[in-house]
Amino acid sequence: MKEPGESLKDLYGIVCEKKNLWEDLSSSIWSNPELAYHEHFACGKQLETLAKLSFPPPVNPYCDLETAYRAEYENGKGGPVFGICAEYDALPGLGHGCGHNLICTAALAAFYAVRERMKKENITGKVVLFGTPAEESYGGKVKMLAKNCLDNVDAVIMVHPSARCVLDAGSTAICRYDVTFHGKASHAAAAPELGLNALDAVLLLFNAVNAFRQQMPDCCRIHGIVKEGGEAPNIIPDKASCRFFLRSLDQKWMDVLDKRFHDMVHGAELMTATKAETVLFNLPYKSRLPNKVFNESFFEYASLLEMNPQRPSGPGKGSSDFGDFSRKIPALHGYFAATNSPAAGHSVEMREACRTPFALDQALRAGAVMAQIILKFLTDPGYREEARKDFEAETAGSL
Ligand SMILES: [Zn+2]
Ligand SMILES: [Zn+2]
Repeated sequence: MKEPGESLKDLYGIVCEKKNLWEDLSSSIWSNPELAYHEHFACGKQLETLAKLSFPPPVNPYCDLETAYRAEYENGKGGPVFGICAEYDALPGLGHGCGHNLICTAALAAFYAVRERMKKENITGKVVLFGTPAEESYGGKVKMLAKNCLDNVDAVIMVHPSARCVLDAGSTAICRYDVTFHGKASHAAAAPELGLNALDAVLLLFNAVNAFRQQMPDCCRIHGIVKEGGEAPNIIPDKASCRFFLRSLDQKWMDVLDKRFHDMVHGAELMTATKAETVLFNLPYKSRLPNKVFNESFFEYASLLEMNPQRPSGPGKGSSDFGDFSRKIPALHGYFAATNSPAAGHSVEMREACRTPFALDQALRAGAVMAQIILKFLTDPGYREEARKDFEAETAGSL
């Protein structure tokens, strides 16, 4: 294979030859934001783009999900297999404030560039493009993993827009609960002794969580909101509900958090003689394990493509269903800059940034970086071994 600098320039050149296709893909998805499992336009647009690039029709629906797909390119038989993840769901009320229009664009660009080079250099192996819906909520990847989508895949990669190009710092596991307390209504002044106060149970749960917070390590986060707190002050609330997100970088602490939270709900029940109904508001996601070997390659290649990569100042605090993928096989979730301004994720500023020519160009560079990592993996057995070893050490470690 060519040396990295030359190879990356070549990959970026291959990608840029199809710039009109990427512009159309990214901007049309940005203009038609769709929520979890309703990404019919975005999914169709990607299938159409793959057809224009002469790929055979992908498997769609895939894993029993209408808006998921799987596309493959294989050269020779029995070689290594590398996966790329495309995301394309939007946020309620905010459109593409997480820039997933750029994630699928970078993924398709990488898939295309890898195929071109595999053909040209007769590289043995397989590259799989996964269309993964519903990342923001409802865990498309968690459902796909349960259907064994990563069986016989050796490693997986994706990139995400951000306010800077930065290495993968991991992400927190998350568990989301809706808790509804059921009590008994009664006149709050005339017959208080006949009531059971569901709002008190919610307040006691918040107090218990707040007290526990002091004993939580920094890797954990709990945050909640009150959803329903009663109808009127003169009626003892017979129903009150809240929603909590429990997060941890450390899977073991996630288990502790989960158990303590359920104990606190039970405690609030006992103290108020109410009954609690606790339901998962969403699928839990696991914490993400960044592969160090891929991370270092990402840094090297993003530097060579002048993307100004930076090292993270600390562990990542968000959550993603890619965490579940990263615990199955070696994985990387790198970040490219969609803007040079300090825009937060899930903001109007980030949404507007994710439609600019600058953001598209950085996404395409990130696509070339992914392609280079994949080609190195397919052609270098030592590199595959190193990535695998790091994965095994990380998964066997304290996390
Ligand atoms: Zn997001
Ligand atoms: Zn996102």
